[in-house]
Amino acid sequence: EPLLTITNLHAEIAEDGTEILKGVNLQLNAGEIHAIMGPNGSGKSTLSKVISGHPAYEVTDGDILFRGDSVLDMEADERARAGIFLAFQYPVEIPGVSVANFMRTALNAKRGEEVDIFDFQEELEARMEMLEMDPVFAQRSVNDGFSGGEKKRNEILQLAMLEPALAVMDETDSGLDIDALKIVTAGINKIKAERPETTILLITHYQRMLNYIKPDHVHVMADGRIIRSGGPELALELEERGYDWIREEISA
Ligand code: ADP
Ligand code: MG
Ligand code: MG
Repeated sequence: EPLLTITNLHAEIAEDGTEILKGVNLQLNAGEIHAIMGPNGSGKSTLSKVISGHPAYEVTDGDILFRGDSVLDMEADERARAGIFLAFQYPVEIPGVSVANFMRTALNAKRGEEVDIFDFQEELEARMEMLEMDPVFAQRSVNDGFSGGEKKRNEILQLAMLEPALAVMDETDSGLDIDALKIVTAGINKIKAERPETTILLITHYQRMLNYIKPDHVHVMADGRIIRSGGPELALELEERGYDWIREEISA
């Protein structure tokens, strides 16, 4: 049984009824890495938010099955507990809340019980060491003065700590210079090596991230649908030829 099965998924902006997803079909088996690429505005971020249960969108048709059960009636936090992870994006700084405390709150929520503080510390230190993060980072306020690279490393730390079955990574590469990109992708690869059953959905506009993380399958999204699927070679072809040729082929 696939880990995630998306069939004929239609979704609109809850506030004004604009349809963004227009029949998405996608199947992810446990342990696979899938990449979704596509031009800006094609609906990639909307898809990631709809999978994780963001309340700004309403599903109007189709279904999302996680381990065979529909998640459409589950709130975002229930989906997170079930094992669906979308890196929390905090656009604002949270003064006074340390990375460690934020992490412990998230872990308690995921596990549905208070994690022992000493076990937590030990686990956090081990994970940070694995990700080559300075231990001082854990004491800083969330996003307070974080560089783009530090924000992304914080996301990867969350991924390493929460151990989700499905990790949806939306534009994890955006705004990273090449050194930060290497560190972040090495972190994802280490998490994957440690827990091979982790299933990853990488959403990216650019193929360069896929030089460091090898996807099993690549999908192209345009205008709210997946219009082409293939292997890693499809990403290289997109890098060379852009997106227009696929759209032309489809409409021909
Ligand atoms: P991508 O991630 O592929 O760039 P998005 O999913 O962010 O695309 O957006 C797809 C389209 O839907 C865009 O035209 C975007 O402006 C619009 N859109 C998505 N979410 C909202 C929203 N909450 N309010 C208004 N417009 C939205
Ligand atoms: Mg409608
Ligand atoms: Mg996006």
